[in-house]
Amino acid sequence: MNYYWLCAAVFAFTYCLNMTYISIFYHRGFTHEGIKINPAFQRFIISSGSWITGIDLKAWACMHRMHHMYSDTAKDPHSPKRWGLFGTMLGQLHSYNATLRGLIKGKPEYTSIVKDLDFDVSFLNRTRLWYLPYVLHVAVWLTCGFVFNAWLLGYAYFVGMMSHPVQGWLVNALGHAMGYRNFQVNDDSRNNTLVAWLCFGEGYQNNHHRFPKSAKFSVRWFEFDFGWHVARLLAAFGLVEIINAAKTIDPSQADLTEALPN
Ligand SMILES: [Zn+2]
Ligand SMILES: [Zn+2]
Repeated sequence: MNYYWLCAAVFAFTYCLNMTYISIFYHRGFTHEGIKINPAFQRFIISSGSWITGIDLKAWACMHRMHHMYSDTAKDPHSPKRWGLFGTMLGQLHSYNATLRGLIKGKPEYTSIVKDLDFDVSFLNRTRLWYLPYVLHVAVWLTCGFVFNAWLLGYAYFVGMMSHPVQGWLVNALGHAMGYRNFQVNDDSRNNTLVAWLCFGEGYQNNHHRFPKSAKFSVRWFEFDFGWHVARLLAAFGLVEIINAAKTIDPSQADLTEALPN
């Protein structure tokens, strides 16, 4: 295989692996329970999540539930209304750190939100070793470069694995500022087609805020939620079970809410 194609393939694989963890397991699984993860597989996700993504599962779920509770108000952890469109990139990091510290210190305003999740913050974060996953991914990059003289390949690996801040910004900022709305909800959520295509359907924020427990973020025939198909593939292998999914309906239908299950 041509070297550049190999680099592109490695980037695509690591990007999809990262998105699968965040969108399917962290978001649709643990946070909203639109899908149920098989118990043995669940233990694997809990212990591998921080290593793969660099992001703590419990802190992510807590922060994201706060986003739904306080969408686009002063208490929303990452609203562009609060942080500005570009400031949301740093705003989400600030809120993530605050959530992580709050959970580790056992502050009730954080712990009460995720009391149903019967696992702790990752030991990497409890023991101030949060940087180890980043060191690991940098080490893979440098090994590819120094040992195999494959710098671009190593870089493709690293950028794919560590793409979460960019995906997070696209969804959190653009998904609440630019795009169309299917539903009049009490926040600024939008369906942003480009972000949805880039981020496993996560860009359909307006649909998602209307039906947060649905494992499927698309509701119209022209909306393509790639993450939903990944979830169905995982379900076919018995790794997850789909609990709740919005139906696809005709766009000419006047009342979109009638065709939906929850
Ligand atoms: Zn949102
Ligand atoms: Zn959500």
